[in-house]
Amino acid sequence: MSAPLPLGSTIGIIGGGQLGRMLAMAAARLGYQTLVLEPQADCPAAQVANRQLFAAYDDAYALTELAENCQVVTYEFENVPVSAARLLAADVPVLPLPRALEVSQDRLVEKTALNDMGIRTAAFRKVDGDGDLASALSEFGGSGVLKTRRLGYDGKGQRVFRNAAGNAADGAYTAMGGVPLILEALVPFEREISIIAARGHDGRMAAYDAAENIHRDGILHSSTVPAAISEATASVARDAAFTLLEGLDYVGVVGVEFFLMADGSILVNEFAPRVHNSGHWTEAACTVSQFEQHIRAICGLPLGDASRHSDCVMENLVGDEVLRAGVLLGEPDVMLHLYGKTESRPGRKMGHFTRLAR
Ligand code: AMP
Repeated sequence: MSAPLPLGSTIGIIGGGQLGRMLAMAAARLGYQTLVLEPQADCPAAQVANRQLFAAYDDAYALTELAENCQVVTYEFENVPVSAARLLAADVPVLPLPRALEVSQDRLVEKTALNDMGIRTAAFRKVDGDGDLASALSEFGGSGVLKTRRLGYDGKGQRVFRNAAGNAADGAYTAMGGVPLILEALVPFEREISIIAARGHDGRMAAYDAAENIHRDGILHSSTVPAAISEATASVARDAAFTLLEGLDYVGVVGVEFFLMADGSILVNEFAPRVHNSGHWTEAACTVSQFEQHIRAICGLPLGDASRHSDCVMENLVGDEVLRAGVLLGEPDVMLHLYGKTESRPGRKMGHFTRLAR
C-alpha cells in the first residue's frame, strides 16, 4: 500500500478494550470507519466503532469477514494469535506486521531479537526445568526474575529471587505451571521510563518524549512527562526505539519500556507492538496523540508532529478510583477519559486522566 487509504475506508481492529476504543475514536476523526473483532458484547471499543464482529480472535469465518470488509487491519493487544494475523495478512495488510506480534509474545524471542539489533536488555537465560534455573541462578549470583515466556503482563507470572540459597530452584519450574520460562538478571534500576514511537509506510519515524512511569501492584499508576533524564539518556532511548522499528520493518506505534540505572544508562525491559498505556498523556499534551499517530501510520498518511505543548502527569483510574471522576471534572487543565466499562473491579482499568502543568 503506497497511497493513503481513501476517506471512508474501514480499519479492522482486533481486540475491543480501551486501546481499541481510543484508536476507533482517532480513526473516526480522520474520516475512517472501524470494525472491531471482539467476542465480548458491549466492549469499550465497539461502543464507539462502526461495527463489531462477535467472535474469537482466531475464528476463521470472522477473519474472512475482516479481510473482506477492511482495507487494513491492526490490533490493540499483543496476544493476538500469530497464526490468525498471518492468515489475515494473506488477504489484507496487517499492520504492524505479524512478525512484531511473534517477537513480542515470547520474552526469550523478544530479548534475543533486541540484542541481535544491538539493543541492550537484562542478561537472560532460557529455563525449561529446575536444573536450568539452578544453573542460571548461580550464574546471576543467586538473584533474578523468573518469568513465563508467554502471556505474562503487569507483573503476572513472575517470581523474584534475591540471594537465593542453592536449593531455591527445587520445584520452582512446576510451581510456575510447567511452562517455558526465562530467568532475567535482577536489574537494580532506579526508575522506569518508556518511549512511544511510530514509523510510517515511508520509513519516517517520530518519537514522543520519554515518560517516567510508576507502577502500583504491577499496574501502571502514573506517567510523568518530561521524565527527569538527561538529553543523552533520552537520545539513547529514542535511538533504541527507532532501531527496533527499523529492525522489524514496523508500521504503526510501538511502546518501549526501559529500566533507568543510577548512572543514566538504560536497558529495554519489553516492548508492546501497539499503542501503550504510558502514552495516554499524548492525547492531552500533544496535537497529534499516539492513537492518531497509529491511524496515520497504518493508513499511509504522513506522521504527525510528536512534540509536546505542555508538561503533564497521566494517572490511571483503577477499580473504584473511577469514583474520583466527579471531582476531576471540576478541575482546570484536567482531561478525563473513561472507558465505558459499567462494572468496576479491583485491578480493572476504568479510565485515566491527564493533568496539564501550565
Ligand atoms: P514486566 O511484566 O516484564 O513488565 O515486569 C513487571 C515489573 O517487574 C517491571 O515493571 C519491573 O518493575 C519489574 N521487573 C521486571 N523485570 C525485572 C528485572 N529483570 N529486574 C528487576 N525488576 C524487574
